[in-house]
Amino acid sequence: MTYCDYNATAPLRPEAREAMLLAMDVQANASSVHSAGRRARRMIESARTAIGGVIGSRSEDVVFTSGGTEANALAILGALAKIEHAVWFYSDLEHPAVRDLAMSGRFETRRVAVLPNGTMDLEDLAQKLQSLDGQTPFLSLMLANNETGVIQPVAKACALVRKYDGLVHCDAVQAVSKIPVSVGMLGVDYLAMSAHKCGGPQGVGALWHRAGAPLLPQQIGGGQEKSIRSGTENLIGIAGFAAAVEASDPYKEAPRIEKMRSVFETALKQAARVTFFGDHLERLPGTSCFALEGFKGETQVMAMDLAGFAVSSGSACSSGKVRTSSVLLAMGASDALASSALRVSFGWRSEAEDAQALAEAWLKAARRVSSHAFKEIA
Ligand code: PLP
Repeated sequence: MTYCDYNATAPLRPEAREAMLLAMDVQANASSVHSAGRRARRMIESARTAIGGVIGSRSEDVVFTSGGTEANALAILGALAKIEHAVWFYSDLEHPAVRDLAMSGRFETRRVAVLPNGTMDLEDLAQKLQSLDGQTPFLSLMLANNETGVIQPVAKACALVRKYDGLVHCDAVQAVSKIPVSVGMLGVDYLAMSAHKCGGPQGVGALWHRAGAPLLPQQIGGGQEKSIRSGTENLIGIAGFAAAVEASDPYKEAPRIEKMRSVFETALKQAARVTFFGDHLERLPGTSCFALEGFKGETQVMAMDLAGFAVSSGSACSSGKVRTSSVLLAMGASDALASSALRVSFGWRSEAEDAQALAEAWLKAARRVSSHAFKEIA
């Protein structure tokens, strides 16, 4: 099986595996005062330093969670519970971990429009901010979209929200380890991360929050993580998370991965009338999202699986059930086109040959379904 589904989960990096095996031998609670407990504590604190370092932050502002979903929820619920008269701005670009919460009817929200290129419409944001009547804006804007890979104008959005003394939450789950991330450069107040997108284990993540940013704990208990997130820390997961982010080097890995994506997309473009999403903008280096109308996303996933390739239709981490991508619909794609979308994502372990091999397998399958979509080529 050739794995091309890194945005769903990246394969475990060997460094993460090794760190987890070491942590497994530390059979103690990091809150215990005996020497074994102190050893566990040291491991957690050095992991915190490593993760803080990767996003350019102080370690003490990093809180470990059970993953990206919890990190997002902690930021949003924790902030909204503390801000008086908050209005939550979000868009259909957000992952269900954020968007479904925004649409739950529990909060006062404004949905910001999405441009056809796959970014948040900042003019619409500016207009909607203007219509506030003394309330405090709270914006959720992800750093990189999980379906298209499109990098969002987070710093610019922050500047707009600051004019109204607002706060900004950024879901950077897809970005950390794939592109350089700096909380200072972005100017955000909260930033969510997840280990399994970086080559770490599933079920562990972190929330960075700016010192002093409002944050009401959502989980009460033993007072771990400075009482912001009670519950015995996942020592093994945290050790694997830190080793994964330390092993990743976007500056070194991205050019190679981007080249693979380019080989893949060029092969498709040369042969077929394929619609690519977000390909005119800066994207995560390994992500390609495209559609051939009439060739259903689920059918493509099955055809590729049979051919030996793991890929995704729509947003895999929210799937199991098939729902048409709200991201692609928000970008203006028709229902028929959006339901024919496939997401390919290359990453740290992908090899140069994978891109060409996947393109050939996909073209072979697509030709059977939709020969009219093929260009007349020799
Ligand atoms: N946010 C984004 C952008 C994601 O892509 C995902 C998972 O795919 C999540 C949040 C959820 O993270 P986790 O699976 O760690 O809960």
